[in-house]
Amino acid sequence: SVTVIGSYNVGLIAQAARLPEWGETVFGSGFSECPGGKGSNQAVAAARLGGDVRFIGCIGTDRYGDDAVSMLTDEGVDISRLKRSTIRKTGVGFVFLNEHGDNCIIVDPGANMELLPEDIEAAQSAIAEADVVLFQLESHLDTVRHAMKMARDMSKVVIFNPAPAQTELDSILPFATYVTPNESELKIMSGRRPDEQLTDSEYIDLAREVLRKGPEAVIITLGEKGAMVVSADSYYTIPAILVDAVDTTGAGDSFNAALAVALGEGQSLEEAVHFACCVGAYTVIGHEVIPALPTREQISLFMSV
Ligand code: ADP
Repeated sequence: SVTVIGSYNVGLIAQAARLPEWGETVFGSGFSECPGGKGSNQAVAAARLGGDVRFIGCIGTDRYGDDAVSMLTDEGVDISRLKRSTIRKTGVGFVFLNEHGDNCIIVDPGANMELLPEDIEAAQSAIAEADVVLFQLESHLDTVRHAMKMARDMSKVVIFNPAPAQTELDSILPFATYVTPNESELKIMSGRRPDEQLTDSEYIDLAREVLRKGPEAVIITLGEKGAMVVSADSYYTIPAILVDAVDTTGAGDSFNAALAVALGEGQSLEEAVHFACCVGAYTVIGHEVIPALPTREQISLFMSV
């Protein structure tokens, strides 16, 4: 079973032929709302895959918070230890899209930043009940650190998805069992520029620097190239499944969720990464994130053909 600790945001998405200039108003050509936030996405992805999933995060008492409660409940995620802040509103991402698909985004994390170490203390039963605890970086770093240490002290498998990327993670890396950056996140967390071109052996070197801080393995997700598993004395690549990608958002989230579910079921790391690559590939075949996430039946069928 899996506990996810992280963010919930609602995406408010406006489309227009072009983005307005400052001071200008333009007519839009469509508006949609969709649930997001890496924590919530990963919790829903894990629940769809048949995991027994709890989500710890913080939403507001506003309408968007009510929407989050309905969505997560409908998906079968245990939200009995989800916090509702009366101080700050539910996290929101304002997304503006032009007709080329370019976007600009303002994210107001809102209530996500109200998840505090003391809330983790209050919710510790949700960590105790899990085999695997999954973290990202859209919450307060102090809260992430506190919860990760607690999970590790309880001998849980800790998966740390360092997204969105940041530097200065030395104080939390010792508590992670597995770290799952994509290529640009691995560069940023290692203090490199995200646009720097690196060879495979340079990626392996960066992963080994991360391993020296404590984790057992770094699993680098490589998009359409699959994933590379690097441990102190070996490395191997799990190839991606060849698909026609239409929307790659959410691939990392579903990959991490699948990894957590598979490890929670006792699969080996190699089997779990293969399963996660299949789930990641399935996710890029569909539009948006939540609608594209496979159920266990769908992924079993996908893996059998
Ligand atoms: P992120 O979304 O965090 O950038 P990736 O793009 O590396 O993460 O995707 C996560 C995983 O999803 C990859 O390791 C891969 O297994 C799968 N995946 C992503 N994009 C594709 C693709 N175009 N074709 C097949 N599999 C993909």
